Amino acid sequence: MAAVVLEGVRKTFPGEAAAVRDLSLEVADGELMVLVGPSGCGKSTALRLIAGLEAATGGTVRIDGRAMDQAAPGERDVAMVFQNYALYPHMSVRGNLEFPLRMRGARRAERRRRAEETAELLGITELLERRPPALSGGQRQRVAMGRALVREPAVFLMDEPLSNLDARLRVRIRGEIAALQRRLGATTIYVTHDQAEAMTLGDRVAVLRDGALQQVDTPAGLYAEPANAFVAAFLGTPGMNLLRARSGGRVDAVWAELGQQRVRLPAERCPERLRRGDGVEFLLGIRPEGFRPVRWGSEDDVLRLKVRMREYLGHETLLYLEPPGPALDPEVPESSPPLVVRIRGEAPPPGEILQLQPDPRGLRF
Ligand code: ATP
Repeated sequence: MAAVVLEGVRKTFPGEAAAVRDLSLEVADGELMVLVGPSGCGKSTALRLIAGLEAATGGTVRIDGRAMDQAAPGERDVAMVFQNYALYPHMSVRGNLEFPLRMRGARRAERRRRAEETAELLGITELLERRPPALSGGQRQRVAMGRALVREPAVFLMDEPLSNLDARLRVRIRGEIAALQRRLGATTIYVTHDQAEAMTLGDRVAVLRDGALQQVDTPAGLYAEPANAFVAAFLGTPGMNLLRARSGGRVDAVWAELGQQRVRLPAERCPERLRRGDGVEFLLGIRPEGFRPVRWGSEDDVLRLKVRMREYLGHETLLYLEPPGPALDPEVPESSPPLVVRIRGEAPPPGEILQLQPDPRGLRF
């Protein structure tokens, strides 16, 4: 397999804002890297630049150390799996699997052997003589994977390969892709807009926004230490609460003034800048699981918020609370989204006031 390195890669379509802006990223040999971000953030374009299906406006793509600037798609030793599968409807599954090998001039016996081995690997042997229109979505998806695998490429590129499947099947095939990728040790770059898919699948995840890389890290690293408010709010189900706050200093604590309320934060957890001065505006990030509901609490340590709505999910309940002040959603800065809290066990009904203590370890600034 091979490492893939992007060095300041740019793509601007005529008359458009840049689709990919100075993207630098190193995907290690054998790694599964997920590119994730909202619709239009440039993730498909980035993948197509690696595949050679688009020409970069600037920067360099290296595969296995070699610059690909002049290399046509066929010379890059990559295989791409598309969202719509792109199978040949008039050919059998066997024909589809053998096609890339035929294009390379492989002999008949070799083609047959490799197609059958791949079908075995993906559990689609009994479908070999069928044509794609007679397959279910999940089966087509496997054939599309098979057609990429059969070539034994240096790098797999996958563009939302599960988005046409229903939720249950998506989760199952996602698990199969992860297991297969690990077994083959295949360098894979996987594009999705679904942050849950990115978090469950990636060795590392690269978060893109407006064509620019925001952060790249392991799923756990991104969740615990998001580099900015966008990443914080984008990752997680639901994402991190972001509260506009203003500091009020004391000797041993920092007061966060949130609208009409204020809460005491442990000084040692707060950045120096907040400890030094009053009236510093900042964004306080708290995950939905970062609050403890308390029956009694010192007025200084709790937020008192009214329940707007609750979502019962069986193993937990999500409570949507009146925000304590103007809150901030990086996608919709003028909005004031409710604060979301994850509760296990019994949850209060809408209209009730809840007392919440932020867990100091969960505070992000
Ligand atoms: P989605 O999840 O909706 O597929 P994406 O993150 O994959 O989105 P891209 O498809 O890479 O985003 O598109 C990034 C930007 O580039 C968008 O603004 C899009 O309109 C633009 N774009 C993509 N392809 C072309 C093209 N061939 N010509 C002009 N603009 C394009």
